[in-house]
Amino acid sequence: MAEVGDCIFCRIVAGELPAEVVARSPHTLAFRDLDPQAPTHVLVVPTEHVADAAALGPEHAALLAELAVTAREVAEAEGVRDRGYRLVLNVGDDAGNTVPHLHLHVLGGRRLEWPPG
Ligand code: AMP
Ligand code: ZN
Repeated sequence: MAEVGDCIFCRIVAGELPAEVVARSPHTLAFRDLDPQAPTHVLVVPTEHVADAAALGPEHAALLAELAVTAREVAEAEGVRDRGYRLVLNVGDDAGNTVPHLHLHVLGGRRLEWPPG
C-alpha cells in the first residue's frame, strides 16, 4: 500500500505531477485519465488521501456527495449528461484497481457495454 508521500494522485493534487484538470471543488479534483477508455474519461478524486471505496465510512458522507456533484459537473461540461455516463469505483485486484487513492471514473461519449468485460 502506497504511503501518502508517494501516492501519485496525492502528488497530482499537490501540483507535483502534471494532469489535465477539468474541474475542482473544495475537497475534490477532476482530471483526465492518462489512458482514456471512452471519449470522456475523467477521474474525480478526493483531495485528502482515502485508499479506496472500502475505506469509506460515515465520516465521509459529505465527501462522497461532493465527489458525485463534481462528477455531474464534469458530465455537464463534457456534454455527456443528457446521453448518459457511467461512474465506476474499482476496489481490489479483481476489479483492476491499480492506484491506491480513491478515484471515481466518469466515462461517457460512447455506448458503454454492460456488463463490463
Ligand atoms: P483503477 O484501475 O480504477 O485503479 O484506475 C486507475 C486509473 O488511473 C487508470 O485508468 C489509469 O489510466 C489512470 N492513471 C494512472 N496514472 C495516471 C496519471 N498520472 N494521470 C491520470 N490518470 C492516471
Ligand atoms: Zn493519495
